[in-house]
Amino acid sequence: MFDCGEGTQVALKRLNLKWKKIDAIFISHTHADHITGLPGMMMLSSQVDRTEPLYIMGPPKTKEYVETSRKVLDMHINYEIIVKELTEPGVIYSTDEFQVRCFWVEHSKPCMGYTFEEFDRPGEFNPEKAKELKVPCGPLWAKLQAGNSVESEDGKIIKPEQVLGEKRKGRKFSFVTDTKYLPTIAPEVKNSDLFICEAMFEKGMDKDAESKKHMTCIQTATIAKDAEVKKLGLIHYSPRYTDRDLNRLLEQAQTVFPDTILTRDKMKLKIEYPDTP
Ligand SMILES: [Zn+2]
Ligand SMILES: [Zn+2]
Repeated sequence: MFDCGEGTQVALKRLNLKWKKIDAIFISHTHADHITGLPGMMMLSSQVDRTEPLYIMGPPKTKEYVETSRKVLDMHINYEIIVKELTEPGVIYSTDEFQVRCFWVEHSKPCMGYTFEEFDRPGEFNPEKAKELKVPCGPLWAKLQAGNSVESEDGKIIKPEQVLGEKRKGRKFSFVTDTKYLPTIAPEVKNSDLFICEAMFEKGMDKDAESKKHMTCIQTATIAKDAEVKKLGLIHYSPRYTDRDLNRLLEQAQTVFPDTILTRDKMKLKIEYPDTP
């Protein structure tokens, strides 16, 4: 999960999302609209049997916030919470399937951007092909699937690529919010299949954006264009904008990066695999 604003646990329950599967929460920065959902999330998780730890990662002060909330609210939590404060960019979390990286952005408080990258998956094993090449079903099939060459019954060397389909490229998702425009963001979010990024202000409000350490929708779209992402989803609009105003922001962003959408609460977006036509 990326960021945890107020009432996150309520939204998760309403949307029927599999919140028990959340192993890690990545916090961009310790402003209220990005972190005050944590106590609710911790309480929600404590009401179920949970053996795996919950990781919470974010810039300095994240730990203090979690610990103070637990203490003041007398929370009895029956599983381990591991809080890691991030002070350097790099890979901060990984599993067999994906890794999460963080990088600095620039806001009125220390703030991190994140990328979530799936590893490439080996192609699908073709049993018919293996039989055809005279590799008997059994441990040799497992060896081929693991990427090793084997010897067939008629003494030929069979390479994994002869029985495996095309590699499936993993997906990349990036989450960047609460920052002024920085040219260093585009290389971090390069080739994202979905790039979620703040767009606080409309075109022409560069001075306000700079002084409040946020971005205009044009700056956000420029990053998406430079990074050659597949899709850009705007978030974190200034409360001054009505729905009609937001359509104006969208149109402005689309002049720079056409594949842009306005995100809304409770919106579900599918992240396509990069090979999807
Ligand atoms: Zn914010
Ligand atoms: Zn902020």
